[in-house]
Amino acid sequence: MRNETIVVAGASLAGLRGAEALRQRGFAGRLILVGDEPYLPYDRPPLSKHVLTGEIAPGATTLPGVRGLDAEWRLGTPVSGLDRAGRALLLADGGRLGFDRLLIATGARARPWPNADEARLSGIHTLRGRDDAAALASGLAARPARVLILGAGFIGCEAASSIRALGLPVTVVDPGPAPLARTLGHVVGSFVAGRMQAAGVDYRPGTRVTHLEGDGAGRVRRARLAGGGAIDADLVVVALGAVRNTDWLAGTGLAANAGGVSCDGACRVLDAAGRPEAAIFAAGDVARWPHPLYGGRPVALEHWGNAVAQGAHAARAMLDGPEAAGAYAELPAFWSSQFGLNIKSLGLTEGADAVAIAQGNPRTGRFLAVYGRAGRTLAAVSVNAGRWLPAYEAPIRAAAPFPPITGGADQPALKPVPPGLPAPRAA
Ligand SMILES: Cc1cc2nc3c(=O)[nH]c(=O)nc-3n(C[C@H](O)[C@H](O)[C@H](O)COP(=O)(O)OP(=O)(O)OC[C@H]3O[C@@H](n4cnc5c(N)ncnc54)[C@H](O)[C@@H]3O)c2cc1C
Repeated sequence: MRNETIVVAGASLAGLRGAEALRQRGFAGRLILVGDEPYLPYDRPPLSKHVLTGEIAPGATTLPGVRGLDAEWRLGTPVSGLDRAGRALLLADGGRLGFDRLLIATGARARPWPNADEARLSGIHTLRGRDDAAALASGLAARPARVLILGAGFIGCEAASSIRALGLPVTVVDPGPAPLARTLGHVVGSFVAGRMQAAGVDYRPGTRVTHLEGDGAGRVRRARLAGGGAIDADLVVVALGAVRNTDWLAGTGLAANAGGVSCDGACRVLDAAGRPEAAIFAAGDVARWPHPLYGGRPVALEHWGNAVAQGAHAARAMLDGPEAAGAYAELPAFWSSQFGLNIKSLGLTEGADAVAIAQGNPRTGRFLAVYGRAGRTLAAVSVNAGRWLPAYEAPIRAAAPFPPITGGADQPALKPVPPGLPAPRAA
């Protein structure tokens, strides 16, 4: 493969870890990473945490290993399309970049406020990249009188925690019943709500914002609520989830939409008829693949650990072939830090019909919740109790009877209750 060229579209975590794995596995050809951002790959988790609190500068987030990688960098260069037959990426600057193999790692972007005119008001922020975090941090440095956060998912809650730590008044609104409820359900979400409120956040569940209004100078001033009422705010963080960056694949005949680009277990991208493309692979937030642990259901994750592992898996499949690489079966896992809580999760809670506090106790602020469906173990979430979590990996992988561990450290009487998760979305 010495004369081959591998191009990576998207120069961030999955692309970098994929490129590193290619070199570690002996790929000696040309390796090019193309990224629309002008920066070398950097880490996103600190952006909603230590960067907002001012403990880490936005520019101090460059990922380890970047500078030692033997690769060509085409940064500040958006990819605008793909010539599948001609095996070339089309670049927004008019250029073409030929490849023998391609790794798609274009990730996701923040879902914007849906009204484009309102979204243009100054003082409205989203949070996905380094520039977003720098702009938000500079808006916060002006000490706004009230910060409003739309959305109580992970980014919204982490931002709320960081902004409260700066001593600024924060309101969080979300149509759901509890923070993080879509992922963790109502039981664990209610515990997080208590911490949020104890930290001084004005948290308003079951609240939907319909409009954002500005003043005569084009600066945001207030949010109008469904059912009447308004909240004054001079800085708004829109934290409404993410959209996969697949627009540039439109018209290529590949199976890609806003939910991700579909691949097989070896990370090979599928065409619209479900056939794998031998030379095109995908990894990280942009990828959606049939997870063997979930009966082959297509899964798309926004987890740091998945971007790392899937980037490396795609590299192996590229060099050694799909059979040698095997089906990608990494157990979904993520962490979050907010309001003094270290939350860690293993497995997917989606579809759970029961949750049990298996170890510890929410009253002490340290516990582990296990999620099950039809008597089988699906997932586990630890709160300030990460050392208990690894014991649940094997039961989750084996779909062991729920709840799986009895007689564990600090175990209360196990009383499974409904988890308060939303109904599973249609695939
Ligand atoms: C604020 C924040 C906090 C987070 N915190 C955590 C956490 O605590 N725990 C956790 O597990 N996960 C966390 N995550 C998620 C984690 O960072 C992502 O899962 C990870 O970044 C995914 O890596 P990726 O390389 O697949 O995609 P991305 O990091 O999204 O990178 C994709 C890259 O491709 C570029 N790109 C997109 N389109 C094009 C194009 N057309 N041409 C060229 N380049 C393009 C993008 O600009 C970007 O640089 C967080 C994410 C954010 C945003």
